[in-house]
Amino acid sequence: MVGSRIRRVRAPNPSAMTLSGTNSYLVGDVEGVICIDPGPGIAKHVDRLIAESPGPIRWIVLTHGHPDHAPAAAPLRAKTGAIVAAHPRSAVPHDRALDEGDVVECGTTRLQVVHAPGHTFEHVVLFEPQERALFTGDVILGEGTVVIAPPAGEMRAYQATLDRLLRDFSNARTIYGGHGDEVTDPRAKIAEYIEHRKIRERELLGALAEGSQTIPDLVKRIYAQTPRVLWPAAARQMLAYLLALEREGRVTSVEAPRAPNADEHAILNPEWSSMVGEDEARVIEAELGAQLRLDALRVYTLTR
Ligand SMILES: [Zn+2]
Repeated sequence: MVGSRIRRVRAPNPSAMTLSGTNSYLVGDVEGVICIDPGPGIAKHVDRLIAESPGPIRWIVLTHGHPDHAPAAAPLRAKTGAIVAAHPRSAVPHDRALDEGDVVECGTTRLQVVHAPGHTFEHVVLFEPQERALFTGDVILGEGTVVIAPPAGEMRAYQATLDRLLRDFSNARTIYGGHGDEVTDPRAKIAEYIEHRKIRERELLGALAEGSQTIPDLVKRIYAQTPRVLWPAAARQMLAYLLALEREGRVTSVEAPRAPNADEHAILNPEWSSMVGEDEARVIEAELGAQLRLDALRVYTLTR
């Protein structure tokens, strides 16, 4: 339970990627309710959403299609007859496409649709004007930072989304993220996220200024204090920056004259299914863009 028209129901799927679990939100009243991010396909979570809803669930809105946010849409739709709505490019089956500026209306509840690419290209953020609530999915979380992993994730698009949220929604009172608790100082949080990306990029450019580096080199250096289990996520972050910098002509890369060794390979293409359960592996692989194999070792150099 959070705001008067907003209830959070946390899914029972805690993990390194989902923190204490995915947040599903029920927004509305006895007239009708919009469920934002029904979460993973866990039957008892779907039942809880229905049981805790203050009114009939008429809409299911997906912030994005990741497997910790969207699979419950189908069973919840089957049980409630709700309309499933998602970004036009979402691969998750949906009844309505949400364009930029659309308003989802349900009883007295209105949600403004904001296209928010970066974490994925098909991410939307929702703004509820009565409570000035910003539902940010995996764009901004209640704790920690967000993984921006190619090919679905794109760093410059993500940074532009953060800039836009700060510009257009600085009057938001609360951020309701896809994981973690509510954020009661949205302006400061968004500014902190913007700054965090700039700091990481400066660290990356600083490392390259001392000589050419591979992604595993960069990770070991920049994320030296970070637990090794998170290094594959760090590698994908580095890749997201490097792809942007290459496109901008600030960095060039060539394939290294050797293949990655076992240690480097484990950072670039970890075998998650041997380390965690199958459901968790699927979430991690989606979040990290594991379908993009990094089989070759590339050497990145700053252009002068
Ligand atoms: Zn996600």
